[in-house]
Amino acid sequence: MTKPTFLIVGASLTGAKAAEELRAQGFDGRVTLIGAEAERPYERPPLTKDYLRGESERAQAYVHPDDFYAQQEIELETGTRVTAIEPGKVRLHDGRQLGYDRLLLATGAEPRRLDVPGADLDGIYYLRTLADCDLLRARLEAGGRVVTVGAGWIGSEFAASARQRGLEVTVVDPQPLPNERIFGRDVGVFYRDVHAQHGVTQLLGDGVDSFEGEGEGEVVAVRTTSGRRIECDFAVVGIGVVPRAGLASAAGLEVANGIVVNDKLQTSVPRIFAAGDVANAWHPFYRERIRVEHWANALHQGPAAARAMLGQPVSYDHIPYFFSDQYDVGMEYSGYAPSWDEVVFRGDRSGGEFVAFWLRDGHIQAGMNVNVWDVNEHVQALIRARQPVAAAVLADPGTPLDELARKLAAGS
Ligand code: NAP
Repeated sequence: MTKPTFLIVGASLTGAKAAEELRAQGFDGRVTLIGAEAERPYERPPLTKDYLRGESERAQAYVHPDDFYAQQEIELETGTRVTAIEPGKVRLHDGRQLGYDRLLLATGAEPRRLDVPGADLDGIYYLRTLADCDLLRARLEAGGRVVTVGAGWIGSEFAASARQRGLEVTVVDPQPLPNERIFGRDVGVFYRDVHAQHGVTQLLGDGVDSFEGEGEGEVVAVRTTSGRRIECDFAVVGIGVVPRAGLASAAGLEVANGIVVNDKLQTSVPRIFAAGDVANAWHPFYRERIRVEHWANALHQGPAAARAMLGQPVSYDHIPYFFSDQYDVGMEYSGYAPSWDEVVFRGDRSGGEFVAFWLRDGHIQAGMNVNVWDVNEHVQALIRARQPVAAAVLADPGTPLDELARKLAAGS
């Protein structure tokens, strides 16, 4: 009997961890991991932080050592693009076809492009891939003035790294505060102030009208919608990402804000799975579909999809988690809070050491520890308890969070 072939499209963190898990679970069929980039799988967090700043080596960004894939008999095909998914096989850009018994789509997301006059000038960068990061690492090395378009995660972390390397940084974002949709006003103000204290000029509530070029077509200034002109040596655009679901939708899979999957990470075609940034997955804890664009989701959802492909019982219910480091401010956020009616703080907000909780109807939806450590698992336990909690108790540092989580979980 021929052994089955499990094909993974997307040689990302999700894809690499899925391939690793297939072997860890003893799967001895064929595992093929296909990636469009020339690189073997790497992790993205260093691309806005230590690697970007020149503080860590390229080798540290990779998910696995170079010889891992051969050792594990994982056929890694980099520089290879899948052009179509058909029943039981995929077509590749070079005309080849590869058969599959199970298929995992870990195709990720791609940067949303800014569509304004001058957006094609040289010196305007996006930051998504290791190759993008290499270019920006060199720009940071050279110094100068940069405009960052977007005060989301890319904008905020890039701005912090660029300031740490001594560049002049201006951030432009139509929102009044950094990441306000996620944080709300008070935490948004906290992060705005952190960037202001580190010398970032923040043009919030302002957008980009156009880029101005000179000479060989190199950007020299950004014009904003409010009429300002900011001179720069280069610009970085981080205005969100779009899930790469084109292949899936062309193949007739259900697509809505990414590839729709159940809690087993299975698409509308039972032998095709999806995980990572591209997967809009039914979440059994939240009882709705959510698509999470963060590192921890890639790390955990890839292996979960691998187990589901092997027919093991899977119900992916991780509480979404992410972290961010900006200057000397580190944080971890857990939960999912598309809306809330109250934000409760515990600790010293002005001193930058606190935990914030987002509550709806007295229930904790999300929590974030800022320069306070070893509490995030308690934050997750508080969320999982799904019990109402008094704001005063939550805010009281005299009540340890682990104790409170235990009490809530016990329903007392
Ligand atoms: P993002 O976090 O979604 O933030 C995009 C920001 O750009 C938002 O504030 C958005 O405002 C703003 N924006 C939208 N259109 C704009 C425009 N025309 N001009 C100026 N600003 C505009 O996306 P990102 O920063 O590009 O990050 C890309 C992906 O990488 C995301 O999935 C993110 O989660 C991930 N990432 C994560 C981390 C981390 O976990 N620490 C770090 C880096 C990147 P609106 O809200 O109004 O659209």
